[in-house]
Amino acid sequence: MNVQKIKQEITQMKTSLAFLEERLKEIQQNCDHHFAGDQYYEKCLKCNMVNVLYY
Ligand SMILES: [Zn+2]
Repeated sequence: MNVQKIKQEITQMKTSLAFLEERLKEIQQNCDHHFAGDQYYEKCLKCNMVNVLYY
């Protein structure tokens, strides 16, 4: 694998990562959350979104 090829793959992965993060954000925004957890931390069972309740 040469440098050019590696750089190309990095660019492709970044693009696909950005796409996936966008998708995830969209799903979490549209989720009717069902949170489970304790007094410090809760997590949605459907979309895995995390809320930290205690700092
Ligand atoms: Zn959710």
